Amino acid sequence: MSSKHSRMAREAKTIRYMMEIYCRGQHSTENSLCPECAELHDYALARLARCPFQEAKSTCANCTVHCYKPEMRQRVREAMRYAGPRMLWRHPIVTLTHLLIDGRRAAPALSGKKSSA
Ligand SMILES: [Zn+2]
Repeated sequence: MSSKHSRMAREAKTIRYMMEIYCRGQHSTENSLCPECAELHDYALARLARCPFQEAKSTCANCTVHCYKPEMRQRVREAMRYAGPRMLWRHPIVTLTHLLIDGRRAAPALSGKKSSA
């Protein structure tokens, strides 16, 4: 894994963990995702791959561009709401990095208007 893509790799891992927690808790799966959650997971990764910010990306919750289609956005919010608090206990390092380091990065604006801090 090249460090150039560490931000994206971390984001993908966070998504995976969250979906696993959500699916296990809500759909009683073990070490795999149900078809519905697998679809959502794949969708999230596909959006991530197309994220215009890539390494400069903030967390999706902070983003200025809502790139998910409404139905998927609703589903992912539900999953995050369930998995979020549980993530902290299950994967504290990943979660804290996501919230405190990645989440603190200001979300860039696509318009090119840069907010200088
Ligand atoms: Zn599921």
